[in-house]
Amino acid sequence: MRKGRTAGIPAWKRGLLVGLVGLAAVGAAAGIRDRQEERDRAMVMGDASGEETVSSSPDSQEESRETKKIALTFDDGPHPRYTEELLDGLAERKVKATFFLLGQNIEGREDIIRRIAEEGHLIGNHTYYHVDITRLTQREACQEILETSKKITAITGQPVEYIRPPFGNWDKELECEVMMLPIFWSVDTLDWTTRNADQIVQKVVTDIEENDIILMHDSYDSTVKAALRIIDLLQAEGYEFVTADELILE
Ligand SMILES: [Zn+2]
Repeated sequence: MRKGRTAGIPAWKRGLLVGLVGLAAVGAAAGIRDRQEERDRAMVMGDASGEETVSSSPDSQEESRETKKIALTFDDGPHPRYTEELLDGLAERKVKATFFLLGQNIEGREDIIRRIAEEGHLIGNHTYYHVDITRLTQREACQEILETSKKITAITGQPVEYIRPPFGNWDKELECEVMMLPIFWSVDTLDWTTRNADQIVQKVVTDIEENDIILMHDSYDSTVKAALRIIDLLQAEGYEFVTADELILE
């Protein structure tokens, strides 16, 4: 039935059609409504999915629109206290984030790193000693990166594929044993200098655009508070928080 027309209908409207037919099936199976009546209704709604319904159902159009994605990224961790506080808040809000870890912060904090991985966040490399990669020899640079990745992988069992180069300085010619993809940022919260949750929230909420990658540091109480408030505010505006790899690979 009406295959030709359905093919030309935008995806959100096709979803609406499928949803209606699904509802009809549920109603009939439960014996709540007359089966034939439901089928007829689905047909009618199907017919009505031409141009005229677009203006009459703005709500369903709103809901079906693609979500705006953004990524929260946290550098320099894990921190013995604030990383876990942040993880608690992220879990409550069902939000995934990205953590770029320093090799020198790994020892003794293995449980935190395991938790980051288990809860579905992305773990990246931030070098071992927070160095400017471009000021090192290739051998030194690779050692910084490989040692950090090795330590992370030993804990999570997962390869480390992404790096946030400290200071944003990346050497494109760098060739280590393992290929690393750099992930930079589009919004710098300057959280480490202000350490003021209100200012951090204000900056992000004012500047934010779809597909932004936000730079923060899970080393401060103010950052944890700000990050969770940012999530609450922007989720209410329809933003979805994803891991940073989702935004650079699109
Ligand atoms: Zn850093």
